[in-house]
Amino acid sequence: MGKTFNLEYIFEDGRFVQSRPFSLMLKPVGGACNLDCAYCYYKGGHLSGRMDMGRLEAVFENYGSSQPSGAPLTFIWHGGEPLLAGEEYLREAIRLQKTLFSGFGSGPRQVLNILQTNATAVTESLASFLAENGFLCGVSVDGPEILHDTSRKTLSGDGSWKRTMRGIRLLQDAGVQVNAMVAVGKHNVAYPAQVYGFLKDAGLGYIQFLPVAEGPSGWLEGEDWGDFLCGVFDLWKISDIGKVFVNYFDNTLALHVGMEPDLCVLARTCPPCPSVEADGAVYACDHLSRPLGGNMLEGARLAEIMSSSQEYSHETEKYLSLSEKCRSCPYRRLCNGDCPVHRTVLLENGERISSLCPGYRKYFAYTYDFFAEWAASISIR
Ligand code: SF4
Ligand code: SF4
Repeated sequence: MGKTFNLEYIFEDGRFVQSRPFSLMLKPVGGACNLDCAYCYYKGGHLSGRMDMGRLEAVFENYGSSQPSGAPLTFIWHGGEPLLAGEEYLREAIRLQKTLFSGFGSGPRQVLNILQTNATAVTESLASFLAENGFLCGVSVDGPEILHDTSRKTLSGDGSWKRTMRGIRLLQDAGVQVNAMVAVGKHNVAYPAQVYGFLKDAGLGYIQFLPVAEGPSGWLEGEDWGDFLCGVFDLWKISDIGKVFVNYFDNTLALHVGMEPDLCVLARTCPPCPSVEADGAVYACDHLSRPLGGNMLEGARLAEIMSSSQEYSHETEKYLSLSEKCRSCPYRRLCNGDCPVHRTVLLENGERISSLCPGYRKYFAYTYDFFAEWAASISIR
């Protein structure tokens, strides 16, 4: 592991912990999945393999001891498809959390579990368990059946929409908060009204749009991305302000106010967001195949890994590699150059810029006055 930056530590309860709280992404079955989505960025890139209970316990303990005592412990269960681990696995994992964190450090710790799933394996019993244990579920659904099934197919090539919607309904009936995670690509980008209308009708009031700007080329043109966001914005502002929450709109307002966005692609630097694979290797961010050079199952403390020079480079690269075009862009403080993974367009001066730039320009220009006025009214109070 490289040089550490001691300023990132605080001394607490007789141990050094990270001064910044962060969540941990876990992959109980690695990249294994029961679907074969056309735009999946895991294909061929990430490790697969199951994390057994012994390893999970070591990871829980290591992460828990890396966090300041007041901070909640946030676990993001991801994949592949994490529900392939099975209901009993999740039940055992939660029992383990309760045992480990009921008297952890200076007292009981607040634990939050977020499950990111395609929901096809949700059963009534699992939905009740997730509700009882306060899980927040992010379910991947790309719109109505005809749009969703174009890209989100089972391994045998059938559409997955019916199974996903059944899972969503079971979760909602059990009282689980369900957020829609909507990949926007060439399969649905031309249909903002249909996608947005469908999500509202399905009772999905928390919406995260995720542009498919990586993986197979040609999945999303920048201009189309802008048209999509503007199309949804037009509908949302008519009657859904304060009722439907769309990640890009919430974050655009926050940026106009001068707050830090929680959407990392719009932030000045990449936030700390490690993911751990089944073998204990820690990656800087789930979208980057960039290991941080420490293994949580081979003695490395997560607090140290997250204070390493590799992590520091990852977080600052987004800002330091910003092109001159972005630096002089009127929307720079709202956009911050998008995710470095999306910066695939080579400019004449040799710098790179996001392939979604034309779309972001269009969206930020179109919504500028609306959010600027709203932000001004918030600041005055
Ligand atoms: S690399 Fe992209 S996805 Fe990862 S933290 Fe940075 S902005 Fe977010
Ligand atoms: S809109 Fe384009 S030029 Fe402006 S900051 Fe974003 S990516 Fe850069």
